[in-house]
Amino acid sequence: MKVITTVKNMQILSCELRKEEKIGFVPTMGFLHKGHLSLIDRARSLSEIVVVSIFVNPKQFGPSEDYLTYPRDFERDKRLLKERDVDILFYPDIKDMYPTGYSTYVEVEGFDATLCGARRPGHMRGVATVCMKLFNIVRPHLAVFGEKDYQQAILIKRMVSDTNLDIEIVLSPTVREGDGLAVSSRNIHLTDKERKDAAVLYKSLLFGKNLVEEGEDNTDKIIKTMRKMIEGKRTARIDYIEVVDSKNLKLVKTINKPVLLALAVYFGRTRLIDNIIAVPARWNV
Ligand code: AMP
Repeated sequence: MKVITTVKNMQILSCELRKEEKIGFVPTMGFLHKGHLSLIDRARSLSEIVVVSIFVNPKQFGPSEDYLTYPRDFERDKRLLKERDVDILFYPDIKDMYPTGYSTYVEVEGFDATLCGARRPGHMRGVATVCMKLFNIVRPHLAVFGEKDYQQAILIKRMVSDTNLDIEIVLSPTVREGDGLAVSSRNIHLTDKERKDAAVLYKSLLFGKNLVEEGEDNTDKIIKTMRKMIEGKRTARIDYIEVVDSKNLKLVKTINKPVLLALAVYFGRTRLIDNIIAVPARWNV
């Protein structure tokens, strides 16, 4: 596995490689887990060269968010990627990505009304900006994103389509622990009690999905039930629970097409997100 630490060297290498071989790319913020590894396997199955980037992007964290405490372990990550037969690890320096005077941002309109886009001002702009930069540096033919960050994946698809980038965006399913908790780098911060309580997230999503499938079409009722389940856990504090159109991510009041049930919940200081798609029974007939 080659480890590339400068933008220039990555560009030179990928320009050369892409002439002959299909490049699959998995952008990450590191502290890798089996969710990341599943994206890497997906990229491997679809391309000849697999590039993984590790970069904790300061531009997507708000001033009161966890940029400084975001977990990092480069040596462990490097080992995992080597074992996974990754071809290239791109690990750029922050000053190389955002040199003094940096002033260009990518704004994808329409993502600030719901979900994390509404709760984390500047987050989606930071994600779009870093992905655009990484796409220009790595020059992949395809890039794999996790459904766990559903809004982010839809935003990237929109950006790629709007700006005519010749990159296929592939979505990959959320990998979960045995009790259903979505695997996340942030889970390391949970205390034993918080970790136990956090299993309620997936349970509440499954419960909500079931209600939709059984014919409940009133979002308020579904959210109320999910809210009650989550509030039953002492360490949980809900940021949001929303039901949105699975295609355009706009709020839905009455469900008559596939929806995304999505939530963000704090356990202590750790904010976890998760989601599930639910298709109303009448949609299938
Ligand atoms: P992150 O390092 O958290 O920025 O995530 C990098 C990529 O991994 C993103 O496309 C995420 O959606 C994806 N990802 C994170 N957690 C999971 C998971 N549990 N299952 C599948 N993909 C995930």
